[in-house]
Amino acid sequence: MILRTHYSGDIHPELDGQEVTLAGWAHEIRDLGGICFLVLRDREGLAQVTMVAKRTEKPLLESVRQLSRESVIRVVGSVKAEPKAPRGYEIIPISLEVLGRADSPLPLDPTGKVDAELDTRLDSRFMDIRRPGSLAVFRIESAVLQSLRQTFYDHGFLEVITPKIVATATEGGTALFPISYFEREAFLNQSPQLYKQMLMSAGMDRVFEIGPIFRAEEHDTRRHLNEAISVDMEMSFADHNDVMDVLERAMVEAYRFVQENCKRDLDVLHLDLVVPKTPFRKVTYSEALDLAKEAGKPTMEWGDDIDTETERALGSIIGEHYFLTDWPSSIKPYYSQPYEDRPDVSKAFDLMHPSMELASGAQRVHDPEQLVSRIKDQGLDPDGFEFYLKAFRYGMPPHAGWGLGLGRVVTTMLGLENIRDAVIFPRDRRRLVP
Ligand code: ATP
Ligand code: MG
Repeated sequence: MILRTHYSGDIHPELDGQEVTLAGWAHEIRDLGGICFLVLRDREGLAQVTMVAKRTEKPLLESVRQLSRESVIRVVGSVKAEPKAPRGYEIIPISLEVLGRADSPLPLDPTGKVDAELDTRLDSRFMDIRRPGSLAVFRIESAVLQSLRQTFYDHGFLEVITPKIVATATEGGTALFPISYFEREAFLNQSPQLYKQMLMSAGMDRVFEIGPIFRAEEHDTRRHLNEAISVDMEMSFADHNDVMDVLERAMVEAYRFVQENCKRDLDVLHLDLVVPKTPFRKVTYSEALDLAKEAGKPTMEWGDDIDTETERALGSIIGEHYFLTDWPSSIKPYYSQPYEDRPDVSKAFDLMHPSMELASGAQRVHDPEQLVSRIKDQGLDPDGFEFYLKAFRYGMPPHAGWGLGLGRVVTTMLGLENIRDAVIFPRDRRRLVP
């Protein structure tokens, strides 16, 4: 049996006289002697429960007075239209039941009135998410996921789930987390790249996956975690420009969806969300280098990976979402397709927010011989990729795809300080608990 008839947010003054049952947390108790207010909080907001001492049964009043803050309660009462109450109504209680008592003192102030350090908040994340500002972020994240999935479905994609325990690295360079797997060593997957490509050979045509990726890098930045959620897609009979179109569409739709469906959460965060303008500007790697030089950041040579400082400089010059295209082949993974007429440049791109990279993608190499030689060029051993290469030898269509970091989308959309604010239980070098 569901223990409530309404969320606080479902109640309005027109329900005057109706009996309702609310369930949630004792957010605030204000006992003024003659009158006592209990504010009940549930996921959808707050409801004021009002008791005039003279008109309330003693045991009921006593149980409210003894209630500890943040205890879980269930209140049966009648709605009374009351213009002076928040949202124009109050609840006159008939009964109150304590379903879960809260100890005190509380590890955090759940009203959000007292600021706490990020680490303190993460240590008691369950309590932190009772704060309206934290909950709003994760409600918006849920909306972003819903919208991204919808965009994929609208474009005819199938949702897939690929293994997270794997035998080999996706690519060289990025550190892996080794795990013991019976009598062998295995790793946590750093990306679904090889699997989603194999599904192109399988004829699944358009697939997406939303799942964890693991990177054993020791970075300590505001945009990296050791476990991140990647929104990945791969699309057959399509090139890098086609998948950039889908990415642009997915981003813009996510902003629109949040704007339409998360008004209350955006209000809580004091945000006026602006949908990015389309089409996103396309800046080639070479143009980016020139722009950086003009901005007085002449430190990079053609062929260097774009460093954080240059990324920032570009972001402040361009000032909106943009695609960084036509990367040197040497710094993009072996599976990126070089241009036929200039093999030192690849059909690879990143989607950039002015403050950080959001996604990387490319048209892929689909010719098995070319793929083997690209693997060798990058100093890797093709033998380790046999299970993957096999899928290329028996009819692999041309294809392209990208991987987008969910945490970074939410961080940049909401202007958060740190990706840890956009991940419920973040994993970094120092944090494995909770
Ligand atoms: P960066 O250069 O910023 O470290 P990357 O180029 O190594 O990222 P990719 O391998 O291109 O990352 O992964 C695709 C996307 O997944 C990135 O654009 C980013 O949004 C997200 N991502 C990758 N690694 C992380 C991480 N450690 N923490 C959070 N998000 C990540
Ligand atoms: Mg990248």
